[in-house]
Amino acid sequence: MKRIILLFLAGAFACQGTRADWQAGVAAMDITPSSPVPLAGYGGKTRLPSRVEHRIWLKALAVSTGSGKPHVLVTADLVGLSPRMVEEIAARAKKLHGIQREQLILNYSHNHSCPVTADVLWLYYDLSKDEEKARNEYTEKVYQAYAVVIGKALANLAPAKLSFGQGLAGFAVNRRRSRPGGRSLPGPVDHDVPVLAVRDIQTNTPRAIVFGYSCHTTALSGSTINGDYAGYAQIDLEKRHPGALALFVQNCGGDANPLPRLMTNDGPQALALAASYGKTLAEGVAQALAGTMTELEGSLQTAMGQTDLALQAGKTAGQLRAELPRSSGLAKRATQHLLRQWENGEPPGAVPYPVQVWSFGPKLTLFALTGETVVDYSLRLKREHGFETTWVAGYNNDLLSYVPSRRVLGEGGYEGTEGMLEYGHRGPYMPDVEERIIRLANQLAARVKP
Ligand SMILES: [Zn+2]
Repeated sequence: MKRIILLFLAGAFACQGTRADWQAGVAAMDITPSSPVPLAGYGGKTRLPSRVEHRIWLKALAVSTGSGKPHVLVTADLVGLSPRMVEEIAARAKKLHGIQREQLILNYSHNHSCPVTADVLWLYYDLSKDEEKARNEYTEKVYQAYAVVIGKALANLAPAKLSFGQGLAGFAVNRRRSRPGGRSLPGPVDHDVPVLAVRDIQTNTPRAIVFGYSCHTTALSGSTINGDYAGYAQIDLEKRHPGALALFVQNCGGDANPLPRLMTNDGPQALALAASYGKTLAEGVAQALAGTMTELEGSLQTAMGQTDLALQAGKTAGQLRAELPRSSGLAKRATQHLLRQWENGEPPGAVPYPVQVWSFGPKLTLFALTGETVVDYSLRLKREHGFETTWVAGYNNDLLSYVPSRRVLGEGGYEGTEGMLEYGHRGPYMPDVEERIIRLANQLAARVKP
């Protein structure tokens, strides 16, 4: 289990420290469903969409330097991806566009107001046959949209100027120690709003504004299709910058919620609140854009690797069998899932954990971690690599589970230990979870940073 597999090294090799000859291409695909598909993200009663509040999107930024291979970041107003979905998206990108898996970062906003897809969070839902059919048809449309948006972004590659800066937005609240009334005791958060601006080399006008934030997209929980606060922020920015695409990257928001929030409905008050968070975030981006952005020089260097995260033992088959008659809903489905695994041996003792690092020269390193990473990962990697030059995105690849730091694991609770069963894992991670991830991230960074 100590083994760390370094899978891929790719990238362009241009002169370091000089102005880069960036090429960038952007594209968007509308993934708003045209017929009803159950909504994703919350367990319990099936939510069917009543209407579209605003449209939801896949957006792609293709980027390359010199004669290097193009790489593509895809953002999505989706709750997540499953391993099966990642595999399918990557297979189509390779077949149709010659893009290898390590050339793709697949981020999602963790939107809780989008349709269900494939087997993402499959234990959450108890769907009828018709609902499953609707989900499967929608999933196929999403796969096609991924293939098209990646192809379009690659086809649009053109000389560009890239710059990086950071703004601030204050609505993310650490949600782990809640008190009555939905308030929380103060806990760590990351209020930075990293911004990558892609500008036309002639006119200097933005073609793409890629921005991130560390917070669950859970301002809304009703029955409308929308992109939550991240959707509102993207709409706001695209209005401010006609012709530019705004791409939202979820960072390490595993333990943060936008607060306050109105959980009961998506009526006018709740929608206005979500929109206000979107406006706050867009303002953070606008202030970064208006400030001193650092022009990125050097070359794109990327690496992808994978480690295993070991799991604690969890319950025996006998314990699970004894619990089954008393359980219902999600807990029952999770117990049945583990019992099925016991029938074939025992539940897996580890999960694969991919990490990607893209270096845009000395002024920006982008870490892309897997799953619902808590804020400690962002703060630690920025502390180790520089708060002004480091962007830590969580919520890439498959949704996996919550990914606690050593601190959060030790504290327990939903993101530390209890949430693991909802993802079908046998038990919490071992105490070395944070060290394994950071070690791999640092090894990859050492290979690509100038
Ligand atoms: Zn979550």
